[in-house]
Amino acid sequence: MSSAESSGEERVVKTVCSICYCSCGVLAHVKDGRVVRLEGDPDHPWSKGALCPKGLSGIELLYHPDRINYPMRRVGERGEGKWQRISWDEALDTISFHLSETREKYGPEAICLATGAGLYSNYGTMGYFGYLLGTPNMMTSGYICFNPSGIAAWATIGYAGALFAQEMVNEEIFDAQCILLWASNPRNTHPYPVGEGILKQKQNGTKLIVIDPRPTDYAKKADLWLPIRPSTDDALALGMIHVVINEGLYDREFVEGWAWGFDRLKVHIQAYPPGEMAGITGISEAQIVAAARLFAQAKPGCIVQRVPIDQNRNAIQTSRAIFILNALCGNLDKKGGNLLPRTGDVLTENEMKAQMEKLPRSVLEKRIGAQELPVLSGPDGASRIVHPLFWARAVMEGKPYRIRTQITSANNQILRDQNSRTVLEALKRLDFLATMDLFMTPTAELSDLVLPAVSWLERDGLRGHPGYPYLIPVQHRAVDPLYERWDDNRFFIELAHRMELDMPWKNEAEYIDFRLKGRGVTFKDLEGINVLTLPKEYERYKNGKFQFKTPSGKVELYSTVLEKFGYDPLPRPVRPPETTQEFPLLLMGGKKSLEYVHTTGRQISLLRKRNPDPTLEMSPDLAQELGVGGGDWVWVETIYFGKKERVRFKARLVDGFPRQVVAVEHGWWFPEKREPLHGGFESNVNTVIPNDVFDPISGSTHLRSIPCRVYKD
Ligand code: SF4
Repeated sequence: MSSAESSGEERVVKTVCSICYCSCGVLAHVKDGRVVRLEGDPDHPWSKGALCPKGLSGIELLYHPDRINYPMRRVGERGEGKWQRISWDEALDTISFHLSETREKYGPEAICLATGAGLYSNYGTMGYFGYLLGTPNMMTSGYICFNPSGIAAWATIGYAGALFAQEMVNEEIFDAQCILLWASNPRNTHPYPVGEGILKQKQNGTKLIVIDPRPTDYAKKADLWLPIRPSTDDALALGMIHVVINEGLYDREFVEGWAWGFDRLKVHIQAYPPGEMAGITGISEAQIVAAARLFAQAKPGCIVQRVPIDQNRNAIQTSRAIFILNALCGNLDKKGGNLLPRTGDVLTENEMKAQMEKLPRSVLEKRIGAQELPVLSGPDGASRIVHPLFWARAVMEGKPYRIRTQITSANNQILRDQNSRTVLEALKRLDFLATMDLFMTPTAELSDLVLPAVSWLERDGLRGHPGYPYLIPVQHRAVDPLYERWDDNRFFIELAHRMELDMPWKNEAEYIDFRLKGRGVTFKDLEGINVLTLPKEYERYKNGKFQFKTPSGKVELYSTVLEKFGYDPLPRPVRPPETTQEFPLLLMGGKKSLEYVHTTGRQISLLRKRNPDPTLEMSPDLAQELGVGGGDWVWVETIYFGKKERVRFKARLVDGFPRQVVAVEHGWWFPEKREPLHGGFESNVNTVIPNDVFDPISGSTHLRSIPCRVYKD
């Protein structure tokens, strides 16, 4: 506590919220050692003083009575919910014992390090720890979240993270002449001023195109709304490319100077005229043509594409088609367009993860899934992560070998991954599972050891802003970690020291300074600063400051990289699963709300009051037909590996919603239910989504158009 605080005065800490990737600026008011008020930082470049309800509930998150505050070890049967408090010393000794034993008996690859998005900080130290252990097996949620579009970028321009710039709303949109929201609803996923800014832009003359089956606020106000049939975005993008090429609307200078394979694309695209794509997408030919013309003629246009594109059986080729459309229109690295990545002086989380690639090739080839999904998991691929489908096979069947020990950080895997019941069984089969998290989730409940993690107001750090390479958010703790909560970076550093592994940093402060290397500052110098701004430059490929890292050194419209792996070098549409008489509706899983990021937040009363129940959106016409009223509980049923499975949601009737589609929120469990699984299968949409329909390149599960039926509870 500072002397000002002890005299009852307030201290203001300038930091950033890290509940989601947006990293909004926050002023945290601290009095008598407690955070008493949060407000948005008006000087922050993109949040401009606004915070969403998740950010505003940071104090409740910090002091929530259900937080995990001490290390605990299981004393009953696995999943029985009986725990005993232990010291950090004992926890570190226990974990290092199990890791060492597994490594000696079965080899380091029998250890898996798994992380979700809950803490958003640990990829670097966890990745390095994996490298030191000698295991190639690190599992993230990337296979359904940004990795597919990242792989598409890798296959097109040579950088796996590049499509982030097309996926995150950033301030470039304010200079765009046309904003294309593709499966994106920024009001629910981005800072308020940015989400509202798009609508203001529209009032000021910027054109707005929205591609979304749902009638979002943006769709209603757009110049063009294309209410697409779910999971047919590949066909729509190809139809638009057809128009752009055949009408000569593409950027000739860019294509001649920086694109590879245009002639082959031109021949290929003739198979996808907008008239035919209309039949697949449910969008009229006239609308496809109008959208292509409007977007191509805007100088520049900017695309904001989100994860529904990642979550389908043709994820890579869909993202490739959208990226190609954007490149043909000359929007890459333009002011007001979509920026190319910046590499160099700050070691990003992903670059840290690549430390794992120092492992010998013979070890990397052993990564689970390296044979089945070489681009996602193989030594020459883009992402280098383990896919949960193959993880479960390894744990349960020992194919190609058994995963026995797992360290999990903020990764509520039972809710996160499809085929949830198999995930549950697999977690139970592990010899040893340690989980670091903020709360006892259904996944944490299955652990042998649980570790207390800090929340964002207790942490220092640098955050990557994946959508915007010119800003580095800087996080300062408002208070020191409460109880015995640890920063997850501290955990991996101390665990490495305990195991006498050669971790290069003594503590998390050194790790942060390491990431600042080359910038001429240390973290101490950044007091009072919550964002570092780097000088902006555009069209860097023209002066050699940016190089496309493809074999041709250009934007590969025709991907020689995918061709080398045996995949189609040019995108083609794949038809999504069809409805049947028994399952006549299409289920869109994975809908986002303003209140929750994935599986988090259901304990927070401020958020739960706003969004108390898992909801299913449907059209009033469909509801009437099914005898369902708004607020009624309904079952959603699918055919799941030959059996029927169902989950429960509360109906919400939405005018203008497509008649044949229903959309549900993902990530629902009920922390208030005191049984160990906390209702983790009641309204968890992943219970009814099998993971056997997936993209052959990335392994992305088909989540956005599953044949289903709905009936009243
Ligand atoms: S959008 Fe909300 S949750 Fe995300 S960083 Fe900003 S305030 Fe936090």
